[in-house]
Amino acid sequence: MTRKRSNIPENDAALERAERTLSKLSSPSVDLAAEYGALADSYRGLLRKLNKTLVISDTYQMQLRELMKQIEDTTYKYRQLKDVALPLCVYCKNIRTDNDYWQRLETYFGTHADIMFSHGICPECIKATTRQLGTWQQRETFPDIPVTLESPVVPNAPKPAEDEVLKELHSLLQRSAADGNPLTPQLERVVGKHAKLLRRFNKIFTISDGYQSQLMDLKARLEFSARTDLLTGIANRWEIMARLESEKSRSERYKKNFSILIGDLDHFKEINDNHGHMAGDRVLKAVAEILRGQIRTEDFCGRWGGEEFLVILPETDLPKACSVAAKLLAKVRKTAVPWEGRRISTTMSMGIGVFRPGMSIDGCLKQVDDALFIAKSGGRDRFSMVAE
Ligand code: GH3
Ligand code: MG
Ligand code: MG
Repeated sequence: MTRKRSNIPENDAALERAERTLSKLSSPSVDLAAEYGALADSYRGLLRKLNKTLVISDTYQMQLRELMKQIEDTTYKYRQLKDVALPLCVYCKNIRTDNDYWQRLETYFGTHADIMFSHGICPECIKATTRQLGTWQQRETFPDIPVTLESPVVPNAPKPAEDEVLKELHSLLQRSAADGNPLTPQLERVVGKHAKLLRRFNKIFTISDGYQSQLMDLKARLEFSARTDLLTGIANRWEIMARLESEKSRSERYKKNFSILIGDLDHFKEINDNHGHMAGDRVLKAVAEILRGQIRTEDFCGRWGGEEFLVILPETDLPKACSVAAKLLAKVRKTAVPWEGRRISTTMSMGIGVFRPGMSIDGCLKQVDDALFIAKSGGRDRFSMVAE
């Protein structure tokens, strides 16, 4: 796809010939020498622009090739992995739902984070979610994510050449021919080359623009995939950790608490056992939608692992966190997910913890985990918190 280009030398043979002829003339008119000077400057200017564009275009091509290679590598690994990790029993061909199988699979994915296990994401979802990521950016959380994918702008990108210069050169040529100027043939050649360079420049400019937007698109896709749980479309564990770290910094800077909720679906294994793991997946998606739909825009939710979800409530203390937890659990309880003519109901247990400045994220997560354990042991479908 790429081709190594060498720069075009600025001292062109046609220009040199014209210079030689000009110097041999016994008394070149001042006008003629000035016109030639202007023409040669414009010609060299165009060559410089063309060379600059070639370099930029080559860089885009190289970056694009790198990204394509990364994607090919990932696809290759995925194909290899499919045989190993397809959750089917090799004898009965049924989907495996035995204890810990999914958890082990997840751990495997966790340690091989570059491997994607999904059917991909459609461009609309990428745009929508990138826009959502963009709103986080406005709160200075993720300064490196682009707010929008449209209209990429590259500073210092060369503008397409104007045809004005060429028009002037043509009229100069006409005047030169009409005056019987002895340099007319050389001038004609230089103008012809100028026009050719201009066409080439505009073509490369267009190609280069294409590379640039492909690159932006690929970067946004990679960015999106790295931060998103591909089953549910909400943030993945990696992204949650990044968000927790940034909430911790904010909390310490402004001396404000924030709350963490971890919700775990109750007896979720039974849903897989009774309805199949596709139905289980559908329930996970529905729960992610519920959580995403119920929280405020400044709150955050992600898939913590298997059937566990984590919610961050910035600037929120325990009483408010409890009422949010109660609202979320009620909504999950009320929802019945339609599946093959049936409706699947589920409940969730939740642990709550309040992060206070000076705490560690791990310390707070441990409290939330302990609280979740208490909620489970207390009969499930409830929330709990660990008293300080
Ligand atoms: P508990 O109330 O104690 O939480 O019981 P549980 O059945 O929900 O918990 P357990 O840890 O025993 O089982 C979790 C199940 O979640 C097992 C695993 O097969 C399933 N699971 C994890 N990730 C996925 C997934 O992505 N899709 C589906 N369909 N199932 C998953
Ligand atoms: Mg669990
Ligand atoms: Mg569970």
